[in-house]
Amino acid sequence: MKTNTESESRKLLGRLRDALAEDSPGQQRLDKIVHLIASSMATHVCSIYLFRDADTLELCATEGLNPEAVHKTLMRLSEGLVGRVARTRKVVNTADAPTTRGFRYMPETGEEVFPAFCGVPIQRLGETLGVLVVQAKEARRYSDDEVYALEVVAMVLAEMTELGVLTGGDDYSSARHQQPVLMRGGVAQEGVSEGHVHLHEPRVVVTNPIADDPQAELDRLGAALDTLRVSVDQLLADARSVDRDQVEVLETYRMFANSRGWRRRMEEDIDRGLSAEAAVEKEQSAARTRMGQVADAYLRERLHDLDDVSNRLLRILTGQSSTASEMPKDAILVARNVGPGELLEYGRKLKGIVLEEGSVGSHAAIVARAWAIPLIINVKGITTEALSGDHIMVDGEQGIVHLRPDDSVSTAFRDKIAMQNEAQSRYATIRDLPATAKCGSTVSLHMNAGLMADLPSLPTSGAEGVGLFRTELQFLVRNQMPRRAELVALYKRVIDAAGEKPVVFRTLDIGSDKVLPYMKPQDEPNPALGWRAIRVGLDKPGVLRMQLQALIRASEGRPLHVMFPFVAQFEEYRSGCNELDKVIERERKLGHVLPSRIKVGAMLETPSLAFAPRKFFEEVEFLSIGGNDLKQFFFAADRENELVRKRYDTLNVSFLSFIEQIVLRCQSTETPLSFCGEDAGRPIEAACLAAMGMRSLSMRPASIGPVKHLLRRINLDELKEVIDNARADGLQSVRQPVMDFLRNKD
Ligand code: PEP
Ligand code: MG
Repeated sequence: MKTNTESESRKLLGRLRDALAEDSPGQQRLDKIVHLIASSMATHVCSIYLFRDADTLELCATEGLNPEAVHKTLMRLSEGLVGRVARTRKVVNTADAPTTRGFRYMPETGEEVFPAFCGVPIQRLGETLGVLVVQAKEARRYSDDEVYALEVVAMVLAEMTELGVLTGGDDYSSARHQQPVLMRGGVAQEGVSEGHVHLHEPRVVVTNPIADDPQAELDRLGAALDTLRVSVDQLLADARSVDRDQVEVLETYRMFANSRGWRRRMEEDIDRGLSAEAAVEKEQSAARTRMGQVADAYLRERLHDLDDVSNRLLRILTGQSSTASEMPKDAILVARNVGPGELLEYGRKLKGIVLEEGSVGSHAAIVARAWAIPLIINVKGITTEALSGDHIMVDGEQGIVHLRPDDSVSTAFRDKIAMQNEAQSRYATIRDLPATAKCGSTVSLHMNAGLMADLPSLPTSGAEGVGLFRTELQFLVRNQMPRRAELVALYKRVIDAAGEKPVVFRTLDIGSDKVLPYMKPQDEPNPALGWRAIRVGLDKPGVLRMQLQALIRASEGRPLHVMFPFVAQFEEYRSGCNELDKVIERERKLGHVLPSRIKVGAMLETPSLAFAPRKFFEEVEFLSIGGNDLKQFFFAADRENELVRKRYDTLNVSFLSFIEQIVLRCQSTETPLSFCGEDAGRPIEAACLAAMGMRSLSMRPASIGPVKHLLRRINLDELKEVIDNARADGLQSVRQPVMDFLRNKD
């Protein structure tokens, strides 16, 4: 049996829908809504406050307060009870407003005569859009049922605001998703670009928040939940044999799909007059709000799962697919996070990427770097603020995103792009010249690669060769282990494309953050310090052998460079060489042509290898410093963890001194040495590495021009002196004196 309050609330929603359906300007609709709410709740005042900008709420409609105050009364987020509701996203319900924490007296509204106050946030999927307030002259608290009814109404208002129903057609200026917004994040890949938003997961639009027939809505919800359960069970059955992590997540999904509490709350919302999809969204909103408030990581993860399940349920109810919108020509991808495989599916059409989460050391970042498109990470709120098709400008130099920029921002931004293009033309003029510094020392510059899409950059970037070919990228983007014949064809294309230029193939570097979707994941407490790279290759040599065979066959009698990743001790290098010797022997017996010359090197990515016996340095044919890993172990700071990663500058004197020691050791045994971490592609860092004696750097193709340009303008001996002086002065980082020195060169 339905309670009185439920039918009252349904009646109110029904009247609200009629008001919204009328073809009247936004302001009239707002006025009508506050009037309806005040009269049906028998309360003296009802007001709607909406955000004018990120920090200010504007009184947009009122029944009961001074009408003159509409669009004039502004409240900062830090002020008043209204500000408190918006800030905390929690209901404030009091019988004695003036003595309640946060109260601010607003004479222009005549508010002092209303002791009863109840404010509920108007929010959609965790994004607060405004505050709905009721007030009364008698000192009373609104009942739980009344508060609940207000929350349901606020939910409908949020949906209407989202659709522009309340804001279109008049002078109301703070329409959501229409105003220019500047957002900040962290730089994961430099560059600037302009385009239109393509949402990785387009938001579901609910066009019918209010429903007439609760029974029909309950039936729809029940049927959608059944479909959800079947689809989750199917996913679980598929995932069981492959991926334990995914199974865990799906088990949680199933728990939610079967949750009585979740279903009951949604059914109550429907009983109050919401449609099935609006009920799902109301609960999703509440979960998102909690997500932002709980400190416990496990609980937050579960709320994330509930969010995903709600999205699935919404898509079932609305029939909107997750890839509904077509990709614009100049697409800038906006996502919560994205994996390297998903990114590669978009292909090279993307002009930039903006992520709400993400990390600098991730593989998605490496792919973006290879494509030379700007990537900004940790941009809080971008997925709720941006709509597919929005005009967007991404400044990957400063980590700034301009969403729906106004004309002055657009003009300044385009000037910046033009300047970048000019710089590119400057770099093109020195493309075929060596990176010879003023002191006469020459640094050879190579490029990092790993995708077929990288190959065209080899002739155009001015790279002398490929200093690091990350073979695991080809393994990461597939759904199953590539076969040997496929690898032979692939490596042959790489070697053919390189022509006379050398390509250093790094054998499979998996583990840590690079988890192959088709390999059983290890349950390791510290994957970065775990079973990865050469450790996997030596313990389970099947894949390593197949890869080495494929490389030998692809070389077709030409020279071959093989590099083992993550070698921490001499023995591992030797064991790797033994594996290679066995493979060579086998290939010889099978009658395959052998490479004319095989050079075998190792990556120096752990401090231990820098202190290996002299014999190692004599035996190894070349070394390449993997600065990304080396730095994380040197400073004990996870390269994927933005909190700690940023604390330690590459130009820290300890790190530079360590690099210098490695250079000296290699010089004493004449071991060729290179540096292939991301720092090699940052001009200032590259110049300092060169000043410490590095004579070979390998970087993303787009960095070769800027690095060469800087190296040709400076004297490395002078720069070394600046670094030495900074060290003598006891500085922690040489960045500032180096910047001063470089500035004076202009
Ligand atoms: C490195 O660690 O510096 C490196 C080049 O390897 P990756 O980034 O692929 O781990
Ligand atoms: Mg590495």
